[in-house]
Amino acid sequence: MRKRCVMLTKRIKRLTPYVPGEQPQDRTYIKLNTNENPYPPTPQIGPFLKSFDIERLRLYPDPLFGTLRAAISNRFNIDVSQVFVGNGSDEVLAFAFYAFFDSARGKLIFPEFSYSFYPVYCDFYGIEYRKIPLNDNFTIDINDYLGEETSCGIVFPNPNAPTGILLPLAKVTEILERYPENRVVIIDEAYIDFGGESAVSLIDRYKNLLVIRTFSKSMSLAALRLGFAMGDKDLISALFAVKDSFNSYPADLIAQKIGEIAIDDTDYYRSITQKIILSRESLSKELRDLGWNVLPSVANFIFAGKKGLTGETIYRRLKAAGILVRYFDTKGIRNFVRITIGTEQEMKALTKAIKELF
Ligand code: PMP
Repeated sequence: MRKRCVMLTKRIKRLTPYVPGEQPQDRTYIKLNTNENPYPPTPQIGPFLKSFDIERLRLYPDPLFGTLRAAISNRFNIDVSQVFVGNGSDEVLAFAFYAFFDSARGKLIFPEFSYSFYPVYCDFYGIEYRKIPLNDNFTIDINDYLGEETSCGIVFPNPNAPTGILLPLAKVTEILERYPENRVVIIDEAYIDFGGESAVSLIDRYKNLLVIRTFSKSMSLAALRLGFAMGDKDLISALFAVKDSFNSYPADLIAQKIGEIAIDDTDYYRSITQKIILSRESLSKELRDLGWNVLPSVANFIFAGKKGLTGETIYRRLKAAGILVRYFDTKGIRNFVRITIGTEQEMKALTKAIKELF
C-alpha cells in the first residue's frame, strides 16, 4: 500500500518499521508476551493523581525535566548534568543513535540476537550495521566486538534480549578499556534490575559510555512512556540537542511527576522485583524438569524451547489456551519462545497448560 502511493518520499518507502508484540483487545489473555511487569506500580501514585490540580495542565512541562533528573541523579549518585530523559527508552535510543552513530566512521555493531529495534533505527538514519554472532550457548564474546575492523559504536542490551543472558560487569569494563574512547558504547539496561549489575558506576571513568534505562519494566510503568540515559555531560548535551531539534517536550508533566515518585520508592520496587526473580527461578526449574531448554536468564523473562517444537507451534497452542508468549521468525532462534514472568498465579496456569499441551 505504502509503496504505491505517489505522494510518499523515497525515504518512507524504504522503511521497515519495528513490530511491537501483540496488545490484543479481543479477549483477556494471560499476557506474557511484551515483558511488562505483572505487579502494579508504586501505590504512592494514586494519591498524587487524585490530588492533581488540572490547572497545571495549562502550561508546557519543564523541557529540562529538572526535578525528575534531580531525583534520578540522587538515586544513582551522579550529577544532574549526567542524566537525560525521554518518552520511553525507545526514544532515548533513537536520539542516541542519531547523535553518536555515523557509518562514515565504521559500522555500528550489535549482537545477532538482540533488541530488534536497533536495525530499524539504523535503517531510519542510514547507519550501516553489522550483527555479531553469539556463541553457541547464546553468550556474547567481547573479543568479537574489539577486532581489527573499526566500528562507529557498540550497542547491546544487558541482560540481552530475547535471551535474558547477562554480560558480567567485568566484561563490560573490559570492552570499555579496549574500545576506542572516541566511539560511543551504549548499554541498554532495560532489564538490569532483575539481577544484573549496572554499568552506571563506570560513567565517570569512561566518557564514551551511555547507559540507557526504562521505567517500563522493573518500575511497572510501560504505559507512562518514560526512559532515561546516564553518561558524561557532553553525551547528555548532545541528546538534548537532538531532542530540541525534534520535540522539546517528549515527557509530559504527569509522566515527569510520576517518574519522580517511582524512582524514590525503592523499597516497594525491590519487593516486587524479588517476587519476579523467585518466579523466574522456579519456572525455569520446572520447565527444565519437563525437558525444556531454558537459557539462564537474569531478566523478567525466559527464553525457552523444547526439542521437536518450533516457537511458533508453542506460541499457537498456548494462545489457543489463552496464554500469550512471543516467538521470533528468525533463523537461529526459531525453536524458542520468550515468556515474560507473570504473577505466581499466572505462572501456575502457564505450567499447567504446558504440561497438558506439550
Ligand atoms: N530496550 C529493550 C532491550 C527492550 O526490550 C525494550 C522494550 N521493548 C526497550 C528498550 C524499550 O522500552 P521502553 O520504550 O518502554 O522504555
